[in-house]
Amino acid sequence: NFISAVVPPGEIGIKFDDIGALEDVKTALHELAILPMKRPELFSRGNLLRPCKGILLFGPPGTGKTLLAKALATEAGANFISITGSTLTSKWFGDAEKLTKALFSFASKLAPVIVFVDEVDSLLGARGGGFEHEATRRMRNEFMAAWDGLRSKDSQRILILGATNRPFDLDDAVIRRLPRRIYVDLPDADNRLKILKIFLAQENVEPGFDVRSLANATEGYSGSDLKNLCIAAAYRPVQELLDEEKNGKKSDTTPTLRPLHLDDFIQSKSKVGPSVAYDAASMN
Ligand code: ATP
Repeated sequence: NFISAVVPPGEIGIKFDDIGALEDVKTALHELAILPMKRPELFSRGNLLRPCKGILLFGPPGTGKTLLAKALATEAGANFISITGSTLTSKWFGDAEKLTKALFSFASKLAPVIVFVDEVDSLLGARGGGFEHEATRRMRNEFMAAWDGLRSKDSQRILILGATNRPFDLDDAVIRRLPRRIYVDLPDADNRLKILKIFLAQENVEPGFDVRSLANATEGYSGSDLKNLCIAAAYRPVQELLDEEKNGKKSDTTPTLRPLHLDDFIQSKSKVGPSVAYDAASMN
């Protein structure tokens, strides 16, 4: 129960195409993880193209890191194990060695597998000096030892994928084990357009709905913020209908919701704003 999810590849239900924008990230993951898992024979010669054991996704909250991890498992045809750093440190108290071994032996049985460690900074954060809990320290060391112990045959088929909003908190020893670090950025206007198109593809929007101006009007919104904004906007016609019913304007026919207008989204901005004030410069 220290693992929050184990999902076989066909059941994850998220593909790269379901993720808007982030084209460079998808390309990097294709080269670093999907190809080595699907075509190991191309990576077995020489030393230059050794598959990497660890990849770090870092960047502001809500930018799609978890989504990318799941889609990566689908695209690579790999099982997906998800663990969360903060839950682990509380649950593993006292049992670090046993549980780390269990996790890694479970993972090798499920290979090819993506082991997604969300909030990797809580599990493998920098040494906290005198304040650090002994259990946290032991667990980090156990985890790294087990990770190093993956045989090279396994390393092709077991990928540790860490995600964090706080890369500057990671221990140097961990950074070294996550040699590939990919920045997952907040979307710019063009990328917000791509993401919004995915969210609105199945929705009833008014003819000529200007999704471009919505993309331009949502500076600073993450993919997750955009989703929440769309949900809030989609609720407005529902609320209107309920209000009409309450005021006795109910008709006998089956109620139909009006299409969504641009103004539904603009009005909803006061309820759902950008959630992160993120300074990309502080990541360096
Ligand atoms: P955190 O760092 O807070 O864990 P995260 O980067 O892992 O966040 P996700 O959990 O992947 O973010 O994203 C939250 C939700 O936002 C997703 O389930 C999805 O609905 C939406 N989302 C975020 N980015 C995108 C995107 N690029 N395309 C489509 N949906 C997105």
